[in-house]
Amino acid sequence: MKPLSTKHQAIEESKTLAINAKANALKADGVTVINFLSGEPDFPTPEPIRNKAIDFIKQGHVRYTATPGIPELKQAIVDKFARDNHLRYEPNQIIVSSGAKQSLYNALQVLCEPEDEVLIASPYWTSYPELVKLAGAVPVFIDTSDTDFILDASRMEAAITDNTKAIIINSPNNPTGAVYPKATLDAIGHVATRHDLFIISDEIYEKLIYQGEHHSIAGLSDDLYRRTIVVNGLSKAYAMTGWRLGYAAASKDLVKLMANLQSHATSNASTVTQHAALEALMGDQHPVAVMRDAFAKRRHVMKEAVDNIDGLSSAPASGAFYLMVDVSSLFGKRHGDTVIENATDVATLFLEKKHVAVVPGVAFGADHVVRMSYATSEADIIEGLSRIRHLIHQLR
Ligand code: PLP
Repeated sequence: MKPLSTKHQAIEESKTLAINAKANALKADGVTVINFLSGEPDFPTPEPIRNKAIDFIKQGHVRYTATPGIPELKQAIVDKFARDNHLRYEPNQIIVSSGAKQSLYNALQVLCEPEDEVLIASPYWTSYPELVKLAGAVPVFIDTSDTDFILDASRMEAAITDNTKAIIINSPNNPTGAVYPKATLDAIGHVATRHDLFIISDEIYEKLIYQGEHHSIAGLSDDLYRRTIVVNGLSKAYAMTGWRLGYAAASKDLVKLMANLQSHATSNASTVTQHAALEALMGDQHPVAVMRDAFAKRRHVMKEAVDNIDGLSSAPASGAFYLMVDVSSLFGKRHGDTVIENATDVATLFLEKKHVAVVPGVAFGADHVVRMSYATSEADIIEGLSRIRHLIHQLR
């Protein structure tokens, strides 16, 4: 047989898969695993949203729609940007996709030429480098691990070459929980303007902030409005991960190219989901506040427990539902015959000895940390961290 294409062979499988598979195997053996891996809210999708979808299905006309989305939903997104972000868009500047991930994919495909460089703050969401590579471009990382996971604009400027095309920013951030202050966004914006870079601003955790407030970089100046593609979606704010709905806002020309690409790849986002999304964006926002408040409480419980364990420390984590925990002070210690060399060894010990699953930082380009998700019950947070405390006491 002829060989498969070499085009995508550099794309890596998700680094979280291995630890997930191990945790699932333990569970299948009847072990009670405390799971701090989750990248999605553990709440059900609010009932009015589910009911809207059911009503739409009952009407029986589940058809294709225009590729960039039904007009009512594009208008609801325009209204959302005006209400929440003071951003003014026309409906032809909006494209609805099957998840924010597809919006990011579309944006990078239409922006990048082969060899273009795209800046990414590290630690990073695991898909960014692969999405950049899928577009034929080159990811370039800017370390934030010694700046409280906030991107430093002078480091950004130092990373720019003649080939730099764009920067991806993500605030509130997965995996670090960092929320960028307005002054940081201003500084990033000035560098982007000076070097004529596009900005892809992934704002999917916008509604999950516990300290500080959300600013969309697109709103900071007219120039930044023009050079920014804002990406957002319903997965995290409305507990709708499985429904697959994301959207992007940008210049009309860029959105047109994204729509052309999407029209041949997947067409419109699910028609049922688009109708449910109308309820999410236009209906009562109280369920979002209830989920946010629950996350705020769990964050407090998790952060306090982590910071009270000798050998662990965590960054501020002002948003999203993740805590980045520095485990580097455990390196060189032993558990029985095992010597801990890196964060992957720490995650393996937590799982194998105490049945607590965390994501090793290598999945995000940082090997001194593990990511703990608090998208799980308070009882599990308390139990999981008590198990971790016991394990750390056993280290020599
Ligand atoms: N961006 C970030 C930072 C994420 O963490 C995720 C999901 O984990 C996404 C985008 C993708 O979201 P969606 O479910 O809308 O594709």
